[in-house]
Amino acid sequence: MKNKVMETLQGSKHFELTRVADGVYAALSVPGTGSVGNAAIIDLGDSTLIVDSFTTIQAAEDLKTAAEFLTGNSVSYVINTHWHSDHTSGNQVFAPKAHIISTSTTREIMATFGKDRISQQLVDPVTINRALNEIERKIAQETDQMLQKEMQWELASDREYMKILPQLVYTLPTLTFDHQLCIYGSLRKVHVITYGGGHTESDAFVYLPDDKIAVMGDLVLAKHQPVFNNANPSEWLNILEKVQQLDIETIIPGHGEVCSKKEIVEVQEYIKDIMLLVEETVQKNGSLDNISVPKAYQNWYFSTYFKTNVQKVYDLLTKKSQ
Ligand SMILES: [Zn+2]
Repeated sequence: MKNKVMETLQGSKHFELTRVADGVYAALSVPGTGSVGNAAIIDLGDSTLIVDSFTTIQAAEDLKTAAEFLTGNSVSYVINTHWHSDHTSGNQVFAPKAHIISTSTTREIMATFGKDRISQQLVDPVTINRALNEIERKIAQETDQMLQKEMQWELASDREYMKILPQLVYTLPTLTFDHQLCIYGSLRKVHVITYGGGHTESDAFVYLPDDKIAVMGDLVLAKHQPVFNNANPSEWLNILEKVQQLDIETIIPGHGEVCSKKEIVEVQEYIKDIMLLVEETVQKNGSLDNISVPKAYQNWYFSTYFKTNVQKVYDLLTKKSQ
């Protein structure tokens, strides 16, 4: 089915299109490009909705082209599952024609912290480029091959982002909700749901009840280590417990291949395992540096996040941050 899509639509260097159901497509990120995260295209019949908008303008423009080609309509709705730049930076490509939708908390974070961060980046790109050069030196010295490859991908994506930064018009959501928003198209209905914040302060996901499909943002990743930088791991577990109650057969994750509910369980196990490892280490007065990636997750991508994940759980446990 994937090939059928690729035959008729020239692919993008930023993502691969996979047909998940009739009128539902996953745009899966190609590592080291301007997408970074996954997106989705949903044909509502008389209108078109996309979930998340990638990191760069070029990747978002390719997503827009693909959405218009596949559905025959321009994009009317863009959902931002959370505020992270790989899910929001492409918003400008769809505005002002499309409604850009997020939770009210996500919009608030984007309007304050997110906007300030971009302003700082624009004022002082030299410092960022210097830091990227430093990372490039570290990559050359890295002996762990998987870590080295992933660092290279991250660096390549960061360089793409720095290239588009002068053209970036930070575009905020125009429509917000606090619990659930339903969009009714002529072909299918879409529920945009939040159960609070787990991966970030506020996470939304898109549920297609008739198709039994969920587009989960970074609440669910497939064979990628979940990212804890802005997370509340305990709340994340509670949210996933609720998601488990929904009738879902297919999941488009925030990163990784199209998957199923099995990956929800895997993410839950990862979160629990890291929390337990840190607790045990603290109890034994051990060093965080001695915690290595558990065997079950050694072949998962995002190995670059393991150390910061451990540190984040430690900080929360010892109340250094909250
Ligand atoms: Zn994220």
